[in-house]
Amino acid sequence: MFHSITLCLDMKGCPNRCKHCWMGWSPNGDMPEEELSAAAADFAPFAGNLELYDWDREPDYSDRYRERWELCCKLSGPRPHQPHFELASVWRLVRDGSYAPWLAGLGVGAVQLTLFGGEETTDWYTGRKGAYREILQAIDILLQNGIAPRIQVFVSKRNLSELPQVEALIEQLDLDRRCRDIGREFDCFVHQGSCDGENRRFYDVWITPEDLEKIPPRLAAGTLKYFSAETLPDVFGRPEDELYRELLADGSTFRYVSDDPVFFIDRSCDVYPNITTPSPFWRLGNWKKDGAGAVLEAYAASRSPAQHARLTVPASQLARACGDPNSRRLFGREDYIELLLHRYCAGA
Ligand code: SF4
Repeated sequence: MFHSITLCLDMKGCPNRCKHCWMGWSPNGDMPEEELSAAAADFAPFAGNLELYDWDREPDYSDRYRERWELCCKLSGPRPHQPHFELASVWRLVRDGSYAPWLAGLGVGAVQLTLFGGEETTDWYTGRKGAYREILQAIDILLQNGIAPRIQVFVSKRNLSELPQVEALIEQLDLDRRCRDIGREFDCFVHQGSCDGENRRFYDVWITPEDLEKIPPRLAAGTLKYFSAETLPDVFGRPEDELYRELLADGSTFRYVSDDPVFFIDRSCDVYPNITTPSPFWRLGNWKKDGAGAVLEAYAASRSPAQHARLTVPASQLARACGDPNSRRLFGREDYIELLLHRYCAGA
């Protein structure tokens, strides 16, 4: 019995194919709505509380987003469902006039939007022509509905030079004042993301310490505020060579099992723990074929290859086998271990 279980069913997928997507680019599916009730019924006996979501990629991408939200709230419990995340479908915001008022009605006060630089670059990173213009439209729509846009920027050496364009856009759209006018604060921040999923492809152009000086002042200040950090290295982490040396002396292993796990369920009903990208190394089983009990047992026993590797292979061995002692790329410690673990499992 787990204290709580959160289930995120990838029912509809995502209209984008972002180059930094940590969830990966699996094809979109169309899971029948009844799967929500079936998942709730199968997993609830194993949890003190169940929390259900009809998405794990783009929220509210289904045309029946309202009904599904209500159904998820109804099937979750016994504790009340968490409020709607500060995430939304940009695709829907510009196509469905009733969506932003609905979000506002649920009490959503801010929505995160992702830019990568100017128009061409943002379209390329989002994997969809027109994405940048839709984000600009979405900003206006959100503000008209009393919701503050929050701008996040993913950065690597490839788009570092375009950060001033994002800062100029923030000024040009007067976002500080417009958010103040609706009684909210404007937030913006930059980070490199974790080096997993599609974002792993940017390893070669990963940010290094000297790049932090090139983050323009408004975005740098917004980043420190958003992460409650004193310095940018507190946010971006430490160079790989330092982490590598530290891990060489670290004989610890780790058990990736929580009493409050979150699971991703893909369109084929394969189940993955929400630790990193849903890759084959993390697969726990198939909820429909194996049953919820067997999937949870696999999780609790660290039976997925990645969980098993982290439980049995010391950090020092992961670093020695898969780290680069000469790299200055910046990582948070845990993100770096997950990158090493992925490489270890991929090469095993
Ligand atoms: S990052 Fe989000 S919006 Fe982009 S492809 Fe991945 S799930 Fe979709």
